[in-house]
Amino acid sequence: MKQRNIDCKYAEKLISGYINKKLSLEDKNLLINHIRKCKSCKEELTIQYLVFEGFSDAGESKNYNLINRLEDELKAAEQMLEEKQRRNMFLGCCGVLVLCFIMFVVFVLLV
Ligand SMILES: [Zn+2]
Repeated sequence: MKQRNIDCKYAEKLISGYINKKLSLEDKNLLINHIRKCKSCKEELTIQYLVFEGFSDAGESKNYNLINRLEDELKAAEQMLEEKQRRNMFLGCCGVLVLCFIMFVVFVLLV
């Protein structure tokens, strides 16, 4: 999968998409890559997430749990992406093998 770098403005759009659970896996990938490097967007995502999931001044531990949950969600998304990449690589290898096999068969038939 190609890694595209996005700017903070685009990341902001993805953040609201993420909060509303409307992001595709590819968009999630872009967002996660960005917030791993960009602290202010990570903060923005955390704040929006807290607000959306019921941020309250009263419940410190609740907020803490929510931040952990967000972290877990992001990690899960990353793992899903890694798995998908691995699967794509595997399928790519299979494709090459099949192609070699076909070429081999054609070669044998021709000779
Ligand atoms: Zn940013």
